[in-house]
Amino acid sequence: MSAIIQACLGCETLLFPARLFCPRCGQEDFAPFSAEHGIVEQTTRLAGGTVLATLAIEGGPRVIARLTGGDAAPGQRLPLTNDPNAASGVHAYIPVHPNVNEDKP
Ligand SMILES: [Zn+2]
Repeated sequence: MSAIIQACLGCETLLFPARLFCPRCGQEDFAPFSAEHGIVEQTTRLAGGTVLATLAIEGGPRVIARLTGGDAAPGQRLPLTNDPNAASGVHAYIPVHPNVNEDKP
């Protein structure tokens, strides 16, 4: 399981959510990057039971994800997914930005 985020082709910065231009180097060419895991930094349980987590992606950005399949504790390493209904175990779901592949044929 993994989640697609955006990698700048100019400076290799990893970005999420997807941007129209790189905030670091300013260029506009990106490639999809498959992020496998994130480390949970903090979780929040909403009134309806949904659990949100802030996760740090190694070498990349922090993302806020919705946990599927259970709860997690700070320091836990979770698989990332673009599938909101990921099964078998706890996953951190982040959506695919519609522009992430816009420069690809
Ligand atoms: Zn860049």
